[in-house]
Amino acid sequence: MRYELMLPHQIRKAIAENWPVALPLGVLEYHGEHMAVGMDTLAVIKTLELFEKERDVVILPPFYYGAASYAVAPPEGSGSVQVGGNALAPFAEELFYSLLRIGFRNIHAIIHHQTENFAAGMPTDLAFKTAGRQAIFRFLEKQRGEGWWGSEAMADYYSGHAAGENFFNWVQVHPLMPAAMNGKYPFDHAGIGETSLMLALCPEAVDAAHFADNTGWYTASAKDASAELGEEGVAMIMDHLRAILRG
Ligand SMILES: [Zn+2]
Repeated sequence: MRYELMLPHQIRKAIAENWPVALPLGVLEYHGEHMAVGMDTLAVIKTLELFEKERDVVILPPFYYGAASYAVAPPEGSGSVQVGGNALAPFAEELFYSLLRIGFRNIHAIIHHQTENFAAGMPTDLAFKTAGRQAIFRFLEKQRGEGWWGSEAMADYYSGHAAGENFFNWVQVHPLMPAAMNGKYPFDHAGIGETSLMLALCPEAVDAAHFADNTGWYTASAKDASAELGEEGVAMIMDHLRAILRG
């Protein structure tokens, strides 16, 4: 369900049943002359909308204003919007803290932008990862008081941890395309891989009439994109979402 359309009794049900709460996290960034600037975020939104047809999930309003960077193109006339990670982290901490206050314990931000080396991290996902950790510590200290971890009530912490219980799983950040997709689907920026995803998920974000206007090396393969290839990527992404978004 889209969070902004939920009634309080539906929110209470989602909390009681531990529905995953998914934040589409992304950027607005130049993606060549043929594709919309929202591509990275739209890919997350559209696959979550498909996921919602299968499973109970809360989809938060998307956050588009991540750190696009100007690595691909300067912003003038290109459309890239850059908000640095240092500015994102305080916002994200407040957002996650608020979601914890509401009662959610199964929160997932999902990002596609700059996730080819996700384990090491990039500014947007690192800011949101840090924010998730900060929010959880802050929430636990407020809820349980200082010394909560050292209290007798936590004596079974490590055995519980081994069994899969972990406060720090309350807020997680995931790449849209997991490392397991490496070599199975092209990871690129505005090339055949991303363009095909958009043709499959959101064709109005691609205009084939503008392929010929592209001059960047990274868009050279875009003209070979197809909805059929995109569907293959979408199928892999859906398997990944089924694995990470569990009640
Ligand atoms: Zn992209």
